[in-house]
Amino acid sequence: MTVPTTKLNDGREIPQLGFGVFQVDPDTTADKVQAALDVGYRHIDTAQMYGNEEGVGKALASSGIPRDQLWITTKLDNDGHGRGTAAERLDQSLTRLGLDHVDLYLIHWPRPAEDRYVETWQGFEDARDAGKARSIGVSNFQVPHLERLAKETSTVPAVNQVEFHPQLVQRELREYHQQHDIATEAWSPIGQGKGLLEAPELAELAGRTGKSPAQVVLRWHIQLGNIVFPKSNNPDRMKENFEILDFTLSDDDLAKIEQLHTGERIGPDPDTFG
Ligand code: NAD
Repeated sequence: MTVPTTKLNDGREIPQLGFGVFQVDPDTTADKVQAALDVGYRHIDTAQMYGNEEGVGKALASSGIPRDQLWITTKLDNDGHGRGTAAERLDQSLTRLGLDHVDLYLIHWPRPAEDRYVETWQGFEDARDAGKARSIGVSNFQVPHLERLAKETSTVPAVNQVEFHPQLVQRELREYHQQHDIATEAWSPIGQGKGLLEAPELAELAGRTGKSPAQVVLRWHIQLGNIVFPKSNNPDRMKENFEILDFTLSDDDLAKIEQLHTGERIGPDPDTFG
């Protein structure tokens, strides 16, 4: 199955479907990533905070997959804000990953109370200029944080990775992203597999399309233009989550899923976290 790509504002193409490794045990990460690569995933989303970059690197090295067929994202840990530190931390990530560059480096959280995300972003521009991060972006940024970067720096983030699932459909950010050519990455795309997947609306769509509720939700993201990287430790589910490119939801179906929005977050509030 060919995974569609999204063109970023820096001209690079990112696979729209990947594999996330949040809460994957560092001791088993190499095996899990290897299993995901076997399924066909070529885009891996990790972070310094997850403590499992080494496992990701191990799997990449033993897979024999050419580097230019892989998309690897990592994120700066919260205690690493600052222009110089952001670049130093990336060097440490590259050592753990066994790579000379990542495809995408993200500021994991804006930490507005500390108020150093603007200078941190300048460190990201340095890392990009040094060739160590081919694309740079942010995560968990709200509109005012994006507006400050636009006003005070010269690079628009290529992506903003935010919590996004049918119960939190991020209308305000989507509109801002569209206006400023920022790609939307959706974290916890299936709501961490909790109550959301039991919604009767999803059961109905799953029955009609012959797919599972998780596949319906992931397909919804793809048709919205989101980039997703569902996580699973289970190879059957990794496969299930990958098999979402062979069916289409109607506009009515998409609208029905959007009606599940409650505004409730799974994760912390980006305005105060970190
Ligand atoms: P997710 O929405 O991908 O859900 C994963 C969980 O759902 C699994 O642990 C499993 O319990 C269940 N699941 C997986 N496949 C299923 C299926 N087919 N059917 C039923 N249940 C299934 O949640 P996530 O891991 O939080 O998010 C995905 C990725 O997003 C992470 O791995 C990470 O890479 C990224 N992320 C980023 C941030 C951030 O702050 N930037 C925060 C959280 C997650």
